[in-house]
Amino acid sequence: MKGPTNQLNIKDKSTPPISMLSVEEVLKSQILSNNYETENNDAFFVADLGEIYRQHLRWKTYLPRVEPFYAVKCNGDPMLLRLLAALGTGFDCASKNEIQTVLDMGVSPSNIIYANPCKQASFIRFASEHDVKMITFDNADELHKIKRLFPKAQLVIRILADDSKALIKLGAKFGASLNDTGFLLKTALELGLNVIGVSFHVGSGCYDENSYIDAIRRARFVFNQASEMGFDFHLLDVGGGFSFSHKSDEGITFEKIAAVLGPAIDKHFPPNIRVIAEPGRYYAAPAFTIATHVIAKRTVCRDGNEEYVPSMNVDQSNVLATKDDHPTFMYYINDGLYGSFNCILYDHQLVTPKVLTKGGSFLFGEILDEPEYNCFIWGPTCDSIDCVTKNGSLPELFLGDWLYFEDMGAYTIAAATKFNGFKQTPVIYTTTDPHVFDYLYDVT
Ligand code: PLP
Repeated sequence: MKGPTNQLNIKDKSTPPISMLSVEEVLKSQILSNNYETENNDAFFVADLGEIYRQHLRWKTYLPRVEPFYAVKCNGDPMLLRLLAALGTGFDCASKNEIQTVLDMGVSPSNIIYANPCKQASFIRFASEHDVKMITFDNADELHKIKRLFPKAQLVIRILADDSKALIKLGAKFGASLNDTGFLLKTALELGLNVIGVSFHVGSGCYDENSYIDAIRRARFVFNQASEMGFDFHLLDVGGGFSFSHKSDEGITFEKIAAVLGPAIDKHFPPNIRVIAEPGRYYAAPAFTIATHVIAKRTVCRDGNEEYVPSMNVDQSNVLATKDDHPTFMYYINDGLYGSFNCILYDHQLVTPKVLTKGGSFLFGEILDEPEYNCFIWGPTCDSIDCVTKNGSLPELFLGDWLYFEDMGAYTIAAATKFNGFKQTPVIYTTTDPHVFDYLYDVT
């Protein structure tokens, strides 16, 4: 693979320790070093930087023409950003702070796209002062603002894509319809602004590869429209929405998208058109695993017909229930909806708890030959919305047992709050691929 392309200023930055253990080994060693009744028993993430590296190789293999500009909003973890910068990706930034963070790592402003179509004026000025030229827009007011604040910007018109096949639809908020693009381009022309291309976003968590094909056709339409007006478009930005999954039986995979998107780009856009993308979830999700432990437990007796009957609540935390009791166990863990599991609320995610330890034994998700019980998993705050899973099924757990959740890197840490005084869950780094060290340390 091509060597690092960004000149990074990382030597003077403190680097957290990075082990070369597997994720399972890190989980185990971290838990063994904890006594669950001491201070040192917080939830924690394990980030496998090797997984990010592998995702990058996968991208280069299946979509070689498309330059990834990582969407920082998805997860601004410093080591994730540093590795991607060292691997030579660009960055999609949504705000002044994100631009500053990426510039501080030594990334060239030409490797940044300010991909938020509706921007605070002072942020546009900041982009101008730091030479971050590529900026998206989707409305005429923004064009007038940019004319005043950054007339030399290289503008990218964000068009509306069909996002009906995505978990998170962005079209209600952003994207010019094809009915409006002519007017917007004409306005840009009259203002003497430099529009260089088209961007779209098929929605985050897109589960139908055909959405990309449709969006490519729309982009081609706008390229033609622009050409007729005298613009010389040379940038196509195919946005985000890329699945990270390898499992074809579960629906969409990155390979499925690449298999239709790559040829569609080649069919509609000649090789002189630069093509970039803004993947977020694709890079961040699979690299992060979170471990949480059961800090408290309640047993709620169930009546056969009702889900559960709150008036029958009895504190049975030290009573071993049998299946015949139809218990619902309520487990309280030390991260929740206001913290890393905000993805349940904002990102429409369903998370899957796996048993990490039970009674001091490490299970790593192994299915046990013992009864499972209906259970709810709650976060640690005092709010009842703070529910991580409802009506799940697990073997009975006890205080101090650990659960883990995989694929927790996207839209988790990034939007975690400190509600109720809880702090953000820290990250422990490892790499299952030693090449990561070459990229992190061999840059000047
Ligand atoms: N680009 C823009 C403009 C976005 O708004 C988002 C997500 O909301 C992304 C890229 C990243 O999308 P994903 O994480 O689905 O790849």
